[in-house]
Amino acid sequence: MSDDTVTWRAMLAETAQVVADRPSALWLCQRASGYEAEEFINELDNLVTSRAATHLHEMVRRVLGGEPLQYVLGRWAFRRLDIMVDGRVLIPRPETELLVDLVVDEVASRRGAMVVDFGTGSGAIGLAILDELPIGHSTVWMTDVSEDALDVARANVAGLGRPGIGARLVQGSWFDALPKDLENSIDVIAANPPYVEDDDPDLEETVREWEPSLALFAGPDGLRDISTIVNGCRSWLTPGGLLLIEFGSRQGEAVRSLAASAGLVSIEIVQDIAGRDRVLRARTPR
Ligand code: GLN
Repeated sequence: MSDDTVTWRAMLAETAQVVADRPSALWLCQRASGYEAEEFINELDNLVTSRAATHLHEMVRRVLGGEPLQYVLGRWAFRRLDIMVDGRVLIPRPETELLVDLVVDEVASRRGAMVVDFGTGSGAIGLAILDELPIGHSTVWMTDVSEDALDVARANVAGLGRPGIGARLVQGSWFDALPKDLENSIDVIAANPPYVEDDDPDLEETVREWEPSLALFAGPDGLRDISTIVNGCRSWLTPGGLLLIEFGSRQGEAVRSLAASAGLVSIEIVQDIAGRDRVLRARTPR
């Protein structure tokens, strides 16, 4: 792929061969061209500039080195947003979109709601919530223990424009990140915490190799952080407040009993789009 006097059509065909995946090749060529999906179609018979070719070759080199496509592209779709991602944060997953539905359903009719997005990473969950509510509707506290992750979240808040005025980014581990005066006044806590077992044999190799361990692993049973959040939430949520936590598909029963032991009520396990147990939905007693 050294010839920079080829059309995008030829470049796309060649890229598809090299990366052995047509959809990936299309994403990469679109990104290198600087055109969005629909516009790129009109570019197919135009020549690739040498600048775009250099960018494409660099991205292809990274993909061939095993790096996840999402990091190579530097952004990935989540709900209606294009979220900037790199190795400092977890790649947004489709099953996590469910958390956004559950939060929006809960607060849509309640202006001025206080929402927490624990372990925000790229900011995908918190920003999708703000994006899907009217501007100024609610406040979303987005926390992360990792300053690196918060830098990515901050960039994504900036990218969101006006809806981003509801975002509050704070550093710290779970409840430690929150200002004291939020005690007993949070309407919804949502979290996609680390929940992978340290030695999980089913974890994909690329995930283990490229995504931040801090965002993935949570002790031998994967429940370390989930139990911290479940056990701490009652002094922060309003009476009847809602707790939503994503977990691994085999942790449903363990998570349900953690919630019951913590005195939470209306405990439900919600399934994801693939029909697997995925989100704990529970309330504090009124
Ligand atoms: N869903 C991720 C995976 O299985 C794990 C995310 C997490 O630990 N929060 O790859």
